[in-house]
Amino acid sequence: MSEPATVLIPGWMHEHARDMLRSQFNLIEIPDCDLEAHLTAQQRAAIRGVACYTTIDQNFIDALPNLEIVANYGVGYERVDAAYARTRNVVVTNTPDVLNEEVADLTLGLLISVVREIPKATAFVRNGEWKTSSFPHSRLTLRNRTVGIYGMGRIGRCIARRVEAFGLPVAYHSRRPAEGVDYAYFPTLLELASAVDVLISIVPGGPATEKTVNAEVLSALGSEGVFINVGRGSVVDEDALISALRTGTIAAAGIDVIVDEPNVPEEMLALDNLTVLPHIGSASVSTRTAMADLVARNIISWFQDGAAITPVP
Ligand code: NDP
Repeated sequence: MSEPATVLIPGWMHEHARDMLRSQFNLIEIPDCDLEAHLTAQQRAAIRGVACYTTIDQNFIDALPNLEIVANYGVGYERVDAAYARTRNVVVTNTPDVLNEEVADLTLGLLISVVREIPKATAFVRNGEWKTSSFPHSRLTLRNRTVGIYGMGRIGRCIARRVEAFGLPVAYHSRRPAEGVDYAYFPTLLELASAVDVLISIVPGGPATEKTVNAEVLSALGSEGVFINVGRGSVVDEDALISALRTGTIAAAGIDVIVDEPNVPEEMLALDNLTVLPHIGSASVSTRTAMADLVARNIISWFQDGAAITPVP
């Protein structure tokens, strides 16, 4: 029988993936991406697979001459230089689909929470204020709104189905019309924002989407507008968002992601009409375990059958 392949985990990884990989491979675990500090040249040469939840750049890939596969924990893989990996014939995998419904659930929860001020209402009860007064009626409502979805991919479609069930019309923007959906399509984000009064962002991060939700888009959304971001923080011009919320350019926002996680800017925390969640879109025990399972199964499948399960495009 041939020797098990050597697989590296640099930094944090879900325990379920660690256990699965440990049982099948020669697993090396190091605390961070400093390969030179933690590994000998011989160890680096032995590594054929990497399971990661961290930045994998060109230098990292170059330091592992026999690397074949990088399995990223998460569907968003902008921290892995997949374009460079391809030039080195290194396969990159992510964890699509297993988290779609979970993220869509959280998105609708966040939207309702923002519009109907659920966190404030909870605090009102806890603080004992209900004993002496009634909670003020929410200024905003979901009723009679049109919901625009920026990104009609796997998760965007799951969000759209839920929005439909709430009896609200859906419109969307992506670079091209999405196959098999008949929601109203807008060729630009600005046109979408002008046509709706809820904008939900669920596009990937990276240079193509960076700061695309800018002052102009927020202004087009309008003073009754609600913005929800469950994609990536980098998609939003955060200064423009803070200013739009402060001046009433839009009514309220809820975001699960920020640019510099976990360092939430003070200006954001000071805003009464902004709800910030700590990047929990997919973060239930069961869904995170399913993601970890897929990380490990991608590597196992690669070394057993010569094909990954979910390679990135
Ligand atoms: P998909 O690849 O299935 O969908 C992405 C969508 O975005 C597609 O409709 C795509 O359409 C569109 N899109 C991509 N680039 C652009 C662009 N430059 N301009 C306009 N539209 C664009 O991804 P998923 O739905 O699986 O995931 C989306 C993202 O959600 C992930 O990349 C991740 O960043 C984030 N996410 C966040 C989570 C959280 O915990 N908050 C959890 C899981 C995911 P087209 O290519 O036609 O433009």
